[in-house]
Amino acid sequence: MGKSKILFSVMLLTPSLCLAQRAQKDDGSSISVRLPGTAIAAMQKIDPEHIRYHVRFLSHDLLEGRGTGQRGGDIAAEYMATQFALDGLKPAGDNGTFMQKVPLVGITPDPATKFSLVPSNGPAWDLKPLEDYVAYDQTQQTKSDVDAEIVYVGYGIEAPEYKWDDYKGVDVSGKILLMLVNEPPSDDVNFFKGKALTYYGRWTYKYEEAARKGAVGVLLVHKTDMASYPWEVVRNSNSGEKSFLKLDGAQALKVASWIQLDVARQLAAGAGMDLEKMMEDATSRDFHPVALPVKLKAHMVSKVRSFESNNVLAVLPGGDSKLKNEAVMYTAHYDHLGIRPDMPGDNIYNGANDNATGCGILLEVARTYSLAGQKPRRSILFASVTAEEQGLLGSEYLGKHPPFPAAKISLDLNYDDVPPLGSPEEVEVSGAERTTFYPVVRVLANTFRLAIRPDSRPEAGHFYRSDHFSLARVGIPAFSINEGVKYKGHDAAWGKQQADDFTAKHYHQPSDEYHADMDFTGDAVMARFGFALGWLAAGQVKEVGWQKGDEFEPARMKSASGIQ
Ligand SMILES: [Zn+2]
Repeated sequence: MGKSKILFSVMLLTPSLCLAQRAQKDDGSSISVRLPGTAIAAMQKIDPEHIRYHVRFLSHDLLEGRGTGQRGGDIAAEYMATQFALDGLKPAGDNGTFMQKVPLVGITPDPATKFSLVPSNGPAWDLKPLEDYVAYDQTQQTKSDVDAEIVYVGYGIEAPEYKWDDYKGVDVSGKILLMLVNEPPSDDVNFFKGKALTYYGRWTYKYEEAARKGAVGVLLVHKTDMASYPWEVVRNSNSGEKSFLKLDGAQALKVASWIQLDVARQLAAGAGMDLEKMMEDATSRDFHPVALPVKLKAHMVSKVRSFESNNVLAVLPGGDSKLKNEAVMYTAHYDHLGIRPDMPGDNIYNGANDNATGCGILLEVARTYSLAGQKPRRSILFASVTAEEQGLLGSEYLGKHPPFPAAKISLDLNYDDVPPLGSPEEVEVSGAERTTFYPVVRVLANTFRLAIRPDSRPEAGHFYRSDHFSLARVGIPAFSINEGVKYKGHDAAWGKQQADDFTAKHYHQPSDEYHADMDFTGDAVMARFGFALGWLAAGQVKEVGWQKGDEFEPARMKSASGIQ
């Protein structure tokens, strides 16, 4: 019998008792983690069976896999909104509704696209789609033409906090930028976080930075070990329709592309250079962009389809007359991969784990706040976002159009794919350690008897692949809450095996379905843990921030200055 077990038993008997723990902060001062009795009483009512029935409904075949822009996805959104309304929450979407419309565009590259490299002396060279390159026209036009000089920009990164700048102020507007994936290799945690991947290493950043600098296109060199996945993955995820947020006047690339390593090698050779040497040069701080005597000539043809979907937003106004203008937010995406009518056999991607579980938890947390006999000081926002599977698009839109100014949102807690496997003894909160809230997270995890499990593969950059990231990029301290791999009655190897089996056999497949023998105990624990964390964040005098020097700190400062 551990201390917290006793504490919780006591709480059950006398719900008016305060949960109070003190912990030492790094600077020697102590923090108090205190939940009022009414909040504890509400938290005790969190029920795994409620989560079960939300999951059962949301992953039912009738919802047809909750595809973005599909009927089943819209029904899921209505379900979330209805539950929020039943909890007495206020709408926080467009025009007094629970819905925030997210305008989307689906783009499919057309076989009529032409893509060739033209050396200044020598014949032009046509590249074969999917074999040699993949490319999307991010300007969302049906036709674009490009005839531009290629400039090699190394990793294509400008990161002042690491004193790294591949561009060195060179004007690249109107150019095609040849660049490498990932980031300069390092074992030093103070330099691009050592082995961990930072956002600078993600291809999305590289496209965005190039567009900000006015380039017309990017050729990303694919190298299997640097990308950490083979060309097949690039090809498969870039062959059909891809969704984007409808452009709102921002700069965009006419050619957002990857090229095969061999193509890059030949391109370098055609310019009288050596690719290996170019890659080596890019690892130096003194790297300077190099213009190649080669042009890219491209005739981009695309099918463009506009459609829309909704984020579902609800708010519980805070109890403090001043702090209620600030918020703590919870997020969980409701969309999944939908239905594929052309596919034989089971063609419904039910998405029970991914992410009906997160939605069930979100709804149970919302119900708990509405049950508490008092309100937290800050307002509590609930956002069930769309188009996560399309590339975090719903949350990206939410980050750009938050119902409270981003600087006034103290914290975002996200739930994505929380497996119904029983009673967890670990919690994963990767990214929490980057925020000023971490001492509270640690104390609370301890109270819940949950060991904090560190990110097992920081080099994979999981932090950048879930919805909390969309909010972090606009400066909001954000992280996901999930179980680790150690469950009561099992060793960690068992939990790891369950996770690996799920990834291999069910992840993003029609077999990610609801089963009556699923055990939602752990989902309820994650709901309670997140509820307590959110309540504590909502009551703090000072809002949560990023640790000094964190890559998201500048975005936080920028959003704060925008409203003062
Ligand atoms: Zn997914």
